[in-house]
Amino acid sequence: MLPAVLDRIAAACRRASRDPAEVTLVAVTKGHDVAAVRRHVLAYGHRVLGENRVQEWRAKAAELGEEAGVEWHLIGHLQRNKVRMLRGVGLIHSLDSERLADALEAEGARRDETFRVLVQVNVAREEGKFGVAPEAAAELARHVASLEHVALEGLMTMAPYSLDPERSRPVFRGLRHLGDRLGVPRLSMGMSGDFEVAVEEGASWVRVGSALFR
Ligand SMILES: *Cc1c(COP(=O)(O)O)cnc(C)c1O
Repeated sequence: MLPAVLDRIAAACRRASRDPAEVTLVAVTKGHDVAAVRRHVLAYGHRVLGENRVQEWRAKAAELGEEAGVEWHLIGHLQRNKVRMLRGVGLIHSLDSERLADALEAEGARRDETFRVLVQVNVAREEGKFGVAPEAAAELARHVASLEHVALEGLMTMAPYSLDPERSRPVFRGLRHLGDRLGVPRLSMGMSGDFEVAVEEGASWVRVGSALFR
C-alpha cells in the first residue's frame, strides 16, 4: 500500500538523517490497468507515476486524461524511434547512449522543449542489462551537457535481483560516488525489494511498483 511505502521511506530518511522531502516516490504502474492505478495510487493523492514502455504509458495517459494531473516518468529502455511519442514526459530515467541523446536533442529542438534525463549506469556490470558502464558515464554526461534541449538531472541504476536488500547497498553506494564525482548528485535507485537501502544511500527517486499493489 502506498501510505505504508511512504512511511517506510520516511523511516529510512530518519535513519540516514535525511529530509523526506528530498525523496520522490515514483509509483511504477506497469502491468496494472487504469482502475487499479486509480485505486492503489491516485486515490492517495499521489501523482508521480512511472512506466517502462512508451506504448503502455501513452495508452494509460490517454485513458486517465490530463485532469488527473499526473507527472509521468519513463523508467524503461527507450528506443530512438519512439522519441516522437514522448508527449508530456516529466523525466526520462534511462538515457544510455549518445545516439539516444542526439535523437532527444533533435526532437526537443523541433518542439522547442527540453527533455529532463538521467543517465542509466550499469553499476553492477550485469551482462545483457541496459545502462552504460561506470567508466563511460562521464563521457555521456559531458555529451549531454553540450546539448541545448536535453538537461542532465542525475543518474539511475538497477541493482541485480536479490531477495536480500543488503546486496543492493554496494551498487547504490557506487552510484552515489559516481554522481558525486560527476557533479550530478541526484540519483534514481531502489525498487520494491530494496528502496529503503536506496534511501539510506542517498536516493532522490525510488521506483516502486509491486509493493504498492499488494
Ligand atoms: C518494474 C520496474 C520497477 C519497479 O519494480 P518493483 O519491483 O515492482 O517495485 C523499477 N524500475 C524499473 C526500471 C522497472 O522496470
